[in-house]
Amino acid sequence: MADILIIGGGMAGLCAATALAEAGQRIIVIDKGRGPGGRMAARRAELAGETVSFDHGAQYFTARDPAFREVVAAWEASGAAARWPAAGDGAWVGTPGMNTPIRAMAQPLDVRWGVRADALSRTAAGWRVAAGEQTFTAATVLVAVPAEQAAVLLADAAPDLAMLAGGVESAPCWAVMAGFPAPLPYTHDTFRGDTAPVSWAARNSAKPGRSGAEAWVIHASPARSRELIDLPKDEAAKALLADFFAATGVAPAVPQHLDAHRWLYALPEARKGEGARFDPALGIGIAGDYLHSPRVEGAWLSGRALAQAVLQERVASTS
Ligand SMILES: Cc1cc2nc3c(=O)[nH]c(=O)nc-3n(C[C@H](O)[C@H](O)[C@H](O)COP(=O)(O)OP(=O)(O)OC[C@H]3O[C@@H](n4cnc5c(N)ncnc54)[C@H](O)[C@@H]3O)c2cc1C
Repeated sequence: MADILIIGGGMAGLCAATALAEAGQRIIVIDKGRGPGGRMAARRAELAGETVSFDHGAQYFTARDPAFREVVAAWEASGAAARWPAAGDGAWVGTPGMNTPIRAMAQPLDVRWGVRADALSRTAAGWRVAAGEQTFTAATVLVAVPAEQAAVLLADAAPDLAMLAGGVESAPCWAVMAGFPAPLPYTHDTFRGDTAPVSWAARNSAKPGRSGAEAWVIHASPARSRELIDLPKDEAAKALLADFFAATGVAPAVPQHLDAHRWLYALPEARKGEGARFDPALGIGIAGDYLHSPRVEGAWLSGRALAQAVLQERVASTS
């Protein structure tokens, strides 16, 4: 039995797990994803005999907080992250993929991928978490999944936390991954569309540590994503690629590879200042970008705030 079970191995969950494991707690993390990433996901595709990668979730991250800056400096030193000036002076990316920092954080921890928590219940022995055919028990449970998913998971077990998470609305995002046989005639590596339909596009193959053919990631704006939310992904991909050519003025080119991913809960409207919430009486807490700010750094800061709240309570209960 773990001391603490963490549901969700994205940036928030793994930051909390790291801090708690360093403080001597026995931690198990479960994540429904097949591998490390969460919303810092990366995907590979074969394109003309070459492997190309696409970061279809977060595009880059900032490191303004001094403690997060130290973590990012360690990633840089180990080759897991690099600066990406094309996105701005303070922009960092995972190398060779956005999910590399997540992989690095998970490596020393006990993280079980491909395990989805279905239900939580409180027993005399602590928390019981049903996850497919497996059951986990732990004295403390921390839920670090997107707000809407946390609200469902916590509805019966911790109604107050469920209500907090349920009050957040996240914007969806259709992400298109397009590979081309030759470079597109667009002089910049990034495109920021302040107005719909394309909110952002990036030449993924130009990020540090990437190689291979011309690869672009295109993000639809929240309004355009909502408009196309129920389309099959191949139709959404074609519509958004056309939007991209129209927005950038690049003459339409035929992609060799075209795929799309629909993020239902991409970017939450964040509750600034909350950070994280821990209920010491029940031994349950929540973290995630929605409790701090809708960014990678916000997720890390939220995970740290939750770990600090748990550790403070541990100290208080033993003194
Ligand atoms: C399209 C897009 C673009 C973005 N662009 C940027 C950007 O440029 N810069 C930036 O800083 N941020 C960006 N973000 C936001 C950033 O990715 C997030 O703020 C951050 O990664 C959130 O981390 P998290 O740990 O809170 O959540 P997540 O990364 O979502 O992690 C939650 C984890 O919980 C798991 N999970 C969910 N339900 C369950 C369950 N029932 N059981 C087990 N596991 C479960 C999921 O698999 C996931 O791994 C972007 C996000 C998206 C989607």
